[in-house]
Amino acid sequence: MTARGWLAPRILFPLYERLSGRWPWTELRRLRTLQWRSPEELEARALWKLRPLLAHAYTHVPYYRDLFDGAGVRPDDIRTMSDLARVPRSGKAELRANFPARIVADNLPKRRRETAMTSGSTGLPFAFYTDRAGLDSRLGSYLFFREWAGVAFGDAALYIAAPPQLSPVRAHSSPLSRLARRLVLGERVIHLSGPDLRAARLVAELRRLPAKSGYWIWGWPSYVGRLAAELLETGVALPTAPRAIIAYAETLTAADAAAIVRAFQCRVTNHYSSYEVLHLAQTCPDNPEALHVNSERAVLRVVREDGSPAAPGESGRVVITDLTNRVMPFINYDIGDWAVAGAPCPCGRGFPTLTSPEGRVGEVIRTPGGKTITPVGLGWHIRQAFPYIWEYQAVQTAEDAVVLRIVPTTRFSADLARKLAQDLEEFLGPGLRVQVETVDRIAVEASGKRLIIKRSHGWRSSPSSLTR
Ligand SMILES: [Zn+2]
Repeated sequence: MTARGWLAPRILFPLYERLSGRWPWTELRRLRTLQWRSPEELEARALWKLRPLLAHAYTHVPYYRDLFDGAGVRPDDIRTMSDLARVPRSGKAELRANFPARIVADNLPKRRRETAMTSGSTGLPFAFYTDRAGLDSRLGSYLFFREWAGVAFGDAALYIAAPPQLSPVRAHSSPLSRLARRLVLGERVIHLSGPDLRAARLVAELRRLPAKSGYWIWGWPSYVGRLAAELLETGVALPTAPRAIIAYAETLTAADAAAIVRAFQCRVTNHYSSYEVLHLAQTCPDNPEALHVNSERAVLRVVREDGSPAAPGESGRVVITDLTNRVMPFINYDIGDWAVAGAPCPCGRGFPTLTSPEGRVGEVIRTPGGKTITPVGLGWHIRQAFPYIWEYQAVQTAEDAVVLRIVPTTRFSADLARKLAQDLEEFLGPGLRVQVETVDRIAVEASGKRLIIKRSHGWRSSPSSLTR
């Protein structure tokens, strides 16, 4: 261990906390202990935070008062997590329409408001307030999940995301915060623009790091996946393997994950975060099949269309209640994602689980037969083709037509394309033609994100039931 590595948790962190009045490392230590408590105890803790939040929202936020009254529910009626199903869900559209006058609490000082904004990847950007009082929870959760992924103290952080002009959120990117991280944590932070990043540039950046410095990657899986493909295709070798790779912001496909593991010789961790509530859940350190939700931070429910809880293994909508935002409460907030509800994890940690985030709500194929196919469902079906392709995207161009775009490896063939189209047609059911098209690159959206499934402009179909 370096001198700084020894000193920091004993001297620097407590000093920082004393001087700043912020307690991220105290929160980190709490989470380290709490993760091993029973699911029942952790649920009781979340409820203990939830009930005063509901009472606060009812009294001080007109939007929620009307919502509760309209549904004939009083905050006191919510005694268990499943009672939350009685509170109608709110989405981005409702919150945006009521912002700020009817959705911001009338009893809290303005200095607690921190303006934030979602990306425009699902339509219009959405401006909202987070609560500065929730900062310790947010930073503590970030540090905790980093540790879970295997990041060591002082490792350099390589951020691989969309360039700033494509993303309204630039976490930790101010020169001042970079300097602070360098001085206090001994941590170099390197931001690399995903769309422009090539393997040679990555290797050059890694060679510039001090000889013994470890590093980790915090990146969008489409960009890291492309880099992995380039490394594998060209045979360019990395000076050293990263200590951890954390994927966030986009759906991590099995194809990307496999290529990343092969190219970087490092496990890839799936981090589930949203602009509205950051650092929500992450892959279990001992069980790659499950993500654990930080239940100290938010109540995350996977629900059916009627609002009732999905059973373990069942797909549903992700609905979130932020336990740390009193300024602008998010209660039963439909975040616009699909996920699969999880069962208790055998690792012994009590935090609730998700099996996998499955992509954005609009990121689906709808078949004439009434099936809805999510990115994970599609990936599962075409997994036999993964050794032959780098990337893919399915575009539903009409109610009866899907084009599967493929970025092929040199081993891909016309025979394979025909077989893939045939298999996919069978899977999707009657009335849908599938055409496989090879391309050099999958284009990204205006937000810089890649969609696994998209529908071509102007075409819409009615919602139907969801199948994996
Ligand atoms: Zn676990």
